[in-house]
Amino acid sequence: MLIVMMKLKKHILLILIGLFVFTSCSSTRQIMSGYRRGMDIPESAEPYPEPTARSLLLGKLTPPRTCYDVTFYDMNIDIDINSRKIAGYVDFHSKAMDNFVKLQFDLAKNMTVDEVNYKGKSLPFTREEDAVFVTFPQIKKNDSFQFRVTYHGQPVEAKQPPWDGGFVWKTDKAGRDFIGVACEGDGASLWWPNKDHPTEEPDSMAINITVPSNIMCVANGRLRETIKTDVKTTYKWFVSNPINNYNVSVNIANYAVINDTIHSITGIQPAQYYVLDYNEDVAREHFKEARDMMRSLEKFFGPFPWWDDGYKLVETPYLGMEHQSAIAYGNDFKTYDSGVRSIYGHIDYITLHETAHEWWGNNITACDGADVWLHEGFGMYTEVLYVEDRLGYPMSVHYLLEKRKGIANRRAIVGPRDEYYWGFEDSYNKGAWILHTLRNVLDDDEMFFGILYGFQQEFASQIVCTEDLVEYINSVSGQDFNAFFNQYIFDRRPPVLEFNITDNKLFYRYNGIVDGFTMPINVLVNKEEIRLQPTTTTQELNIPDYATVQIMDWEYLILKKENNMLKIN
Ligand SMILES: [Zn+2]
Repeated sequence: MLIVMMKLKKHILLILIGLFVFTSCSSTRQIMSGYRRGMDIPESAEPYPEPTARSLLLGKLTPPRTCYDVTFYDMNIDIDINSRKIAGYVDFHSKAMDNFVKLQFDLAKNMTVDEVNYKGKSLPFTREEDAVFVTFPQIKKNDSFQFRVTYHGQPVEAKQPPWDGGFVWKTDKAGRDFIGVACEGDGASLWWPNKDHPTEEPDSMAINITVPSNIMCVANGRLRETIKTDVKTTYKWFVSNPINNYNVSVNIANYAVINDTIHSITGIQPAQYYVLDYNEDVAREHFKEARDMMRSLEKFFGPFPWWDDGYKLVETPYLGMEHQSAIAYGNDFKTYDSGVRSIYGHIDYITLHETAHEWWGNNITACDGADVWLHEGFGMYTEVLYVEDRLGYPMSVHYLLEKRKGIANRRAIVGPRDEYYWGFEDSYNKGAWILHTLRNVLDDDEMFFGILYGFQQEFASQIVCTEDLVEYINSVSGQDFNAFFNQYIFDRRPPVLEFNITDNKLFYRYNGIVDGFTMPINVLVNKEEIRLQPTTTTQELNIPDYATVQIMDWEYLILKKENNMLKIN
């Protein structure tokens, strides 16, 4: 998922506020100068949203959910475009993790459950918010069992996809249907029944979708079979890897298929691009960029995780989403402009960002929405690394400094778990900055890149929490980064570095740091790099008379604060 629209809106809002109040009030001048200056640390924290009955039912792993593990979903639905309704069934192939009689699956309350069938018999069920509780005859631990949920309804429409979830029913420039669905943060249960928790991934999944025969349906994985009649066509897609629920998606349009090849570190691999037929020529040229991105990303993180399911870019009526092996792309093939949707007029950030998620988000999936910075922070830092690979380190620092302005510091990145809270806000820009800071603290690129690569290999196709990452970094580096992450991830305030430069001394100290936090900072004194170890106690560095001093805050996420009173008595 991506953030630009929200940032843009905030930007416009700030400009409007600025225009309105500039003439009458100085506080807005402070807001404006704050925005120009970049990152700020607000005085007070913004509270996290209060949990609701729905968010607790979705967010918590309670016994009716932990009692079973889904190994395979078999989805079979018919999409009626005219009425904007879907109908069909999903088979849950599962394993009992405990003895139980009652389990919970999830489906939005506006969708009708027609039947829950087990061994040919209808089972009783009750509903509460978006949860469905089914009573089974006694199921024993380790039993394999399967049940079918037949359902229908009109799924919620997305008002502003992909930032809020739902179906998108649009038409293309030729007036033909152009349909997609995105549901990150809102939950896949808004359109299909599943155990809607980030930790639940089936080992594989069949996605069988029936649509009118004059249009095509593209979903995740490989197309195994197409069953066509004059009226309707069923597309049978199959995902042969674990997949998180929100990544399951359907795309319906008049697609042309472009076949491409990518030089992967695993050998030459085929790629497919599904684009609106009238965009075939422009897309064929534009998506050549994916070859270069893949080469960089595989170098950093190891082989693309889903070659067996394919690398597909699928044109969508919304900006983008990381849908596993079938990336949603809706950026209008814009690269060669200076708009917000490209990076330096060179790089299509949608192709790049969503492809990054195939590693960060899909291969490695966060254990809770609160930990979604593991998707977005790494996704954003992948953008930075690609800029560095393509345009050089100084450009990547410029790119980071632009992102720094978007850091809000209103809430700690990882908020409450088990409440279906998705911590998107600072997870992108600040998340990327934290990784950049970590890299400079390590001061050893071989180790830093080894950590990125190694984490991908060691935790491939797994669910991880922030603590797993910290433990991994500690073990590889032999250093203790617990306090570092307590400061940057579990506290909202980055450290403040107070400093005072006199004729021949630099005084410095940290402010606002959590217990045990230590972090070196490099400074340039007459362009010579010196590593400081600030603490909360004021320290001094002797500098030559009239030296130039630069605190390298382009390599560390700190707030510099000049304090002319700072000295050692
Ligand atoms: Zn994203």
